[in-house]
Amino acid sequence: MPVPVPAALRAVREFVAVYGREPTHLVRSPARVNLIGEHTDYNDGLCLPLAIDRELCIALRRADDLPTAGTGIGAHLRLVSEQDPTPAVVGLPPPAVDTPPPARATGWARYVEGVAVQLAATGLVPWQGALASDIPLGAGLSSSAALELAVALACTHLAGSVPTPTELARLAQRAENAWVGAATGLLDQLACVGGIVGHALRIDCRALSVTPVPLPAGLAVVVIDTGSRRQLVTSAYADRRAECARAARALGVPALRDLDALPADAASRLDPVALRRVRFVIAENARVDAVAGALARGDAETAGRLLLAGHRGIRDDFEVSGPELDAAVAAASGAPGCFGARMTGGGFAGCAVALVDRDRLGPFTAVFHPAYSARAGREAVLHVCSTVAGTSVTALR
Ligand code: ADP
Ligand code: MG
Repeated sequence: MPVPVPAALRAVREFVAVYGREPTHLVRSPARVNLIGEHTDYNDGLCLPLAIDRELCIALRRADDLPTAGTGIGAHLRLVSEQDPTPAVVGLPPPAVDTPPPARATGWARYVEGVAVQLAATGLVPWQGALASDIPLGAGLSSSAALELAVALACTHLAGSVPTPTELARLAQRAENAWVGAATGLLDQLACVGGIVGHALRIDCRALSVTPVPLPAGLAVVVIDTGSRRQLVTSAYADRRAECARAARALGVPALRDLDALPADAASRLDPVALRRVRFVIAENARVDAVAGALARGDAETAGRLLLAGHRGIRDDFEVSGPELDAAVAAASGAPGCFGARMTGGGFAGCAVALVDRDRLGPFTAVFHPAYSARAGREAVLHVCSTVAGTSVTALR
């Protein structure tokens, strides 16, 4: 089998092929997988993601030495992606923040333009870039946050500003919320920007604090790509978000994070659907600390049991699982060496995550694949993850 070319190298090669000169910098931005704490970020709650060794890379170079006269286009950012034949081009200065949606870029250029819009006040220099990525799109591994953060770091680095990781994450989130129109929380961006080798990250989405949690040495985190994909910006995500906000108002708390237990009179103040949503969020926040504690003391059995409980909760109470995700969790949890598994990401389709004994990865894989295809009628792709550092920029040569 041919050895795959790493995304970093593909980005550099593509840059040379497209622009006919060498790039000066390389930005790398990892995917993330969330171990537990799903749909809690927009409830001001807790989550436990880790940055993984699937990355999106941009090779780039300042373009203010290139003539713009006679080209019909002024100073701009230009980015090509191996995933899309249409380049993302953002004229400088970028559009105003209140530009109505019909006048904004379409497709993946929205993410690039959205970041540039957020950075307009701090100054932008023109640059050219080539993007290559090993993060599947729309699979729940947060290719969108990886893209936003890579573009944001490229822009700020070339302009000579040094935002903190939290500032970068918030800026990327604003681009996704206000420009792309996806009402996502801050989990994805904080996880991608803050990755630490050998650790998961306990994130408190209210305090915006990140606490590293060491992963036991013999434990493998396995991402299961079920091969199913959800719609780009699902209305169900916005529905859950609105349901949670309504339930918090009905219970008189600023956010569902503020509840440690269901109030005694919850059943009379909430309809049955809202009651299930609230029950899930309360239990899910508690599971984050329980999983973090179990991992820190090397107790993979307990962590795995909690992941399975989390899957039941998100399937039955929060109702954002899907048939392939359920099949993947059932097939994984019945395979040798597996401590537990759950769906991960926004839901409905995409990826599940399993905690597996590193010494038993062979038998796990051998049993998992036929069990999954028998249940789901399709093949899954397994990725045994390494943990990596967050979004970074390096000078080339
Ligand atoms: P997820 O973040 O779970 O992967 P999203 O729907 O939030 O899914 O983001 C996916 C979108 O991000 C894609 O449809 C595309 O617009 C953009 N994107 C991500 N990675 C790339 C890439 N390598 N090239 C072009 N666009 C990308
Ligand atoms: Mg996304």
